[in-house]
Amino acid sequence: QTLQETLLAAIRTIPDYPKPGILFRDITTLLGDARAFRRSVDELVHPYAGSKIDKIAGIEARGFILGGAMAHQLSSGFVPIRKKGKLPYETVRVAYSLEYGLDEMEMHRDAVSPGERVILVDDLIATGGTAEGAVKLLRQMGAEIVAACFVIDLPDLGGRAKLEALGVSVNTLIA
Ligand code: IMP
Repeated sequence: QTLQETLLAAIRTIPDYPKPGILFRDITTLLGDARAFRRSVDELVHPYAGSKIDKIAGIEARGFILGGAMAHQLSSGFVPIRKKGKLPYETVRVAYSLEYGLDEMEMHRDAVSPGERVILVDDLIATGGTAEGAVKLLRQMGAEIVAACFVIDLPDLGGRAKLEALGVSVNTLIA
């Protein structure tokens, strides 16, 4: 079995969630499968083993789970990027596009220092609107974005192309 097959088998697909017509990729089953979880994290960090990564920035909420494990393996710090209103200290904020309309995400303004090498992570990239917002925040803080990593890419929705057009290197496990 290839890695792609192993990981795909561990992901549950739920029709019509959260709305009719949407096929939701549910990675909680992958996280609950010890082998699949370890393989995923190993593969996500593999390209960066031995290079200096200052911080892993995880997008709320599933990016926290993957990002925490990646940070541990790479001996990096972890930075949460959250929906607005959740972080207690002073923040930088950016609006980002959702399927319908806009939302805002935030990061603590001292979470990343200029020049720090950062890897961005989330479970899935679809249109890329969420990740694009996170890239803007990190760059606003002067971070050098080494890569953006995702377990799942939905390539038809154009997210990877959107990030690459911003000069971000994209690493995904399943397309
Ligand atoms: P985008 O901004 O269109 O790229 O959507 C990506 C964001 O929505 C990520 O934070 C994902 O966690 C979430 N998302 C969108 N579709 C799915 C899905 O099918 N399963 C899990 N998360 C999803």
